[in-house]
Amino acid sequence: MIAKWENLTRDEIAAIDKSTAIVLLPTAATEQHGAHLPVGTDSIILSTLIDKFIETETFDDGTLIFAPQLCIGKSNEHMGFAGTLTFGTQTYYSMLHDIAGAIAKSGFKKLVLFNSHGGNFDMLNMISRDLRIDFGMEVFVFDWWFTTFWNKGLEGLKESGKYGVFHACELETSLMLHARPETVHMELAVDEDPVECLRDNDFVTVFGPYNVGWKTSDVTKSGVIGAPTYATAEKGKKLFEYAVKELKDIISAFAKTNY
Ligand SMILES: [Zn+2]
Repeated sequence: MIAKWENLTRDEIAAIDKSTAIVLLPTAATEQHGAHLPVGTDSIILSTLIDKFIETETFDDGTLIFAPQLCIGKSNEHMGFAGTLTFGTQTYYSMLHDIAGAIAKSGFKKLVLFNSHGGNFDMLNMISRDLRIDFGMEVFVFDWWFTTFWNKGLEGLKESGKYGVFHACELETSLMLHARPETVHMELAVDEDPVECLRDNDFVTVFGPYNVGWKTSDVTKSGVIGAPTYATAEKGKKLFEYAVKELKDIISAFAKTNY
């Protein structure tokens, strides 16, 4: 069974077999995405993917429950542009810890932190171990920015060449052109690389391998990192189809663990 937490009754949640149930807690963001995309981009993409997943997939290895999505995350790197909402580090940690604790109190033993915003990633990795220790849950971090998740899906589609797939880019803009085209202003889309000193450096770039504590305005004037002018709705449709299938395989792998 696949369901949304908010659509189940108290007694239905209590009756779920917790030995095979997985709760996915969607963590998104509300933050500037250049001039051409709405600030809800990360949240819209994630909730659209969840709805498509529930619509088209089944799950035979137990019960999947999507908890209510958190549409504000840790986005302080984007402060300085209008429209960004963010939790501070300590608040975000405490909030995630409280919500995971409540999920554990309902008896669930497996939790996936299901993330669509790169700025949340460090926190999710860190708190996953704390949740394991504090509540005894198996906790997984699903993220598509710092993993290979999109690589196969972008094969044959990505046209932005040297530009990265990073923020308000070809990938996100294509997904939005499919999910919510009326909110996308392609006439305002501009392509921008990170500033040279954080791009053509052997060791320290915004893409790694060594990390640097950058804020978005250090890296880009437009607020875009990537090439949204190559985005199309057709690519977005194919990328969502790919993501639904890939997600199913990854969740099935989470279901098989038992530690
Ligand atoms: Zn985004």
